[in-house]
Amino acid sequence: MWNRSSKPKRSPRPKRKQREKRYTLEIDGLSVEVVRKDIKNLYLRLQPPDGAVRASVPWRLGDEAVRQMVNARAEWIREHQERFAQRPSRPVTECRSGEIHAFEGRGHRLEVVEIAGRSRVQVGYGDGVITMTVGLGTSRATREAALERWYRRELAQRIPRLVVHWEPILGVSVAEWRIRKMKTRWGTCNTQVRRIWLGLELMKRTPACLEYVVVHEMVHLLERSHNARFWGLMDTFLPDWREQKAALSRPLAEGLDSGAQMSTCSEEADEGEETSREPEPQRGQRSLWV
Ligand SMILES: [Zn+2]
Repeated sequence: MWNRSSKPKRSPRPKRKQREKRYTLEIDGLSVEVVRKDIKNLYLRLQPPDGAVRASVPWRLGDEAVRQMVNARAEWIREHQERFAQRPSRPVTECRSGEIHAFEGRGHRLEVVEIAGRSRVQVGYGDGVITMTVGLGTSRATREAALERWYRRELAQRIPRLVVHWEPILGVSVAEWRIRKMKTRWGTCNTQVRRIWLGLELMKRTPACLEYVVVHEMVHLLERSHNARFWGLMDTFLPDWREQKAALSRPLAEGLDSGAQMSTCSEEADEGEETSREPEPQRGQRSLWV
């Protein structure tokens, strides 16, 4: 029988339609980032690099539900946060000669050549060397920016070739692709406007990994969710996708900054935003559903 008094307390709904609302709750000494959005279930996620707790919460649930969930999972959270703490942090790079930087899945030695004139970055193919030619006394920030521009340029050359190759095979058309410096995703796909976003870090990974992410995002144009049909399509078009997916979840090599803590894509979200439906465990993250 319906008992009005036992009806769960609803959180106030926003007056206007809102995609999401974020705020922080302190629960038993833990800072929990709450993200309210249009989802069915409450779930917790520990985010890299330090295992910060994020709760994705449907509008219908109150903060009390978040507190209960966090309290009930306190041990799980502590355990995994300790694991995050044990992970090696990303190596600090100064963009100086002798440093090893990942490019196309392997380490390349950086050689910085200082000359009078404008900064530019060149890569030495085949001999495992990235040669950066910069103006005398160029700052670290400028060198970093130049290296990043170069990664971006290299990636921008590869993406259209892959998209054009795969469009007729998959029978889809990509309206637009963009590169973005993403911290937690390798790629995302906005299926409504048929736009795919690819993480700049992909340039550090093997060509096969890059192709996997491009195909993965393009397959979302056929199937939005990471459901059985989606992975079935991946099996059909790119049978070795599991290998690349696994490779992306592993660091390239000890001490190599290769975006190893990034996770799989989120379908339908744009601009690197997290998806708001059918949450799934992401690589590099620990997720828990209720
Ligand atoms: Zn996906």
